Amino acid sequence: MGEEVISKNFIEQIIDKDLEEGRFDHVQTRFPPEPNGYLHIGHAKSILLNSGLAKKYHGKFNLRFDDTNPTKEKVEFVEAIKKDVEWLGANWEDRLFFASNYFEQMYECAILLIKKGKAYVDDLSADEIREYRGTLTEPGKESPYRNRSVEENLELFTQMKEGKFEDGSKVLRAKIDMASPNINMRDPIIYRVAHLEHHNTGNAWCIYPMYDFAHPIEDAIEHITHSICTLEFEDHRPLYDWVVNECEFKNPPKQIEFAKLYLKNVVTGKRYIKKLVENGTVDGWDDPRLVSISGLRRRGYTPESLQKFVELAGISKAQSSCDYAMLEYCIREDLKLKKSRVMAILHPLKVVIDNYPEGQVEYLNAPNNQENPELGSRKIPFTKEIYIEQEDFMEVPVKKYFRMFPGNEVRLMHAYFVRCTDVVKDENGNIVEVHCTYDPASRGGNSPDGRKVKGTIHWVSATEAIPAEVRLYENIVDEEKGVYNEDGEVNVNPNSLQVLKDCYVEPSLAGAVAYDSFQFVRNGFFCVDCKDSTKEHLVFNRIVSLKSSFKLPNK
Ligand code: ATP
Ligand code: MG
Repeated sequence: MGEEVISKNFIEQIIDKDLEEGRFDHVQTRFPPEPNGYLHIGHAKSILLNSGLAKKYHGKFNLRFDDTNPTKEKVEFVEAIKKDVEWLGANWEDRLFFASNYFEQMYECAILLIKKGKAYVDDLSADEIREYRGTLTEPGKESPYRNRSVEENLELFTQMKEGKFEDGSKVLRAKIDMASPNINMRDPIIYRVAHLEHHNTGNAWCIYPMYDFAHPIEDAIEHITHSICTLEFEDHRPLYDWVVNECEFKNPPKQIEFAKLYLKNVVTGKRYIKKLVENGTVDGWDDPRLVSISGLRRRGYTPESLQKFVELAGISKAQSSCDYAMLEYCIREDLKLKKSRVMAILHPLKVVIDNYPEGQVEYLNAPNNQENPELGSRKIPFTKEIYIEQEDFMEVPVKKYFRMFPGNEVRLMHAYFVRCTDVVKDENGNIVEVHCTYDPASRGGNSPDGRKVKGTIHWVSATEAIPAEVRLYENIVDEEKGVYNEDGEVNVNPNSLQVLKDCYVEPSLAGAVAYDSFQFVRNGFFCVDCKDSTKEHLVFNRIVSLKSSFKLPNK
């Protein structure tokens, strides 16, 4: 069999060309998060793309915190981001960097620009600067401070650094072209005064570089070859190139843009997730309903499933969005053969087997995963009283109902054939208990005499099973209303979390710990909650149901 031919994405094609033509002799990429929130699935795409390229080209991958804006950044976020990146399998080895460690070099770059007559201190207010900037159809106006002498600019910029000026009173601007058709090139601000404490540099600085100035310098200092970012920075590329060239970096990095990952009907933007966290709609950044990486991990997603998802989503320049169903497909595929298929009852109905000996506990053998014998088998206790799902019994069966109803014989999975004989109700007419008889000759669930039953249902022993709490999830977004309302707030689905307190799982799950996951027969894949589950009180999150609406696109 020949090797599968995998076509290269457009970024790989650019890299191949750069290596061929000798623009670079190696590949170095980075993931540059701003530590102002937790990462989400969109970031996962960027992480896996960047680290994947480094791996593929035997290059290097840096994790760099883009921490140049002290207003929203926190150490908590730094630690959470590191954990997420590591969990995804992106290995930065010893290349962990902080942009704030380059403040001195950035300052020197600014001095160089001033000396070359390429930057000036401006006294215009923020509003005036905006007004002078012009529009897409009109050129901008030059600031009256634009032609200050190099000496004056050096003097004023030094004073800015020394804290002589109030926040917002002066800025340093690149001197490029106020008439440029690209507004980003109309003398962008590169430094501002901000008397703020920084999580890394403390009070060492009261001027901070702007993103468009800092980012290319960070890349250049780290000898990044391919600076991969999302599409909204395409118009910033001329400025990126201007900065690295005017600051005289040799062999500067090349910026390449790709389309962001969007999921239909899903909240991805960091600031929206942040809002849901801050207003208490969700239980923190790692709420299992969120597509934050920590939320997905808590829900039970695996790094492999996210890798698969990113692969299927593909890398492109064209904006598009994926279905959440594709994400679900990826986790189902990943867990299908890896996890044990166990029995758990989410909505219990008691069944009494009248002809089964009182007090007897019998251990029945069950394969852990019929499709993967390597997972071995386990013993499940069978007793006179068991629980089945409420929906697996109907007093008056509808057409084509093959599960339990009076007079009908069904198979209890891995156990026996049982026939329903009686129904017990409370004074309100609610079914409280069902009675059956079993056929001892059908042990293991095998037909004793070629007799056929149409239904097989799952169960747990009422006396040996372990009580558990199970959490079922729906999209946090009310899909009928759309993701956001007119005020930009998320339309929250009031039914996104359903807590089932009265569930039972088979005793083989007694030792389950955080992040362990299982297939619960017929009910889906479930994961032990890392925050709320304890040895005494097991809590399971439903990762995904077993039914899929997603079809793999034909390639
Ligand atoms: P958000 O879009 O949620 O506000 P952000 O862009 O502010 O996130 P950063 O920390 O600045 O978050 O992003 C770090 C890196 O992740 C950047 O290189 C950015 O381009 C990339 N990134 C962010 N969102 C996505 C996405 N949806 N798809 C792919 N890459 C993304
Ligand atoms: Mg950003």
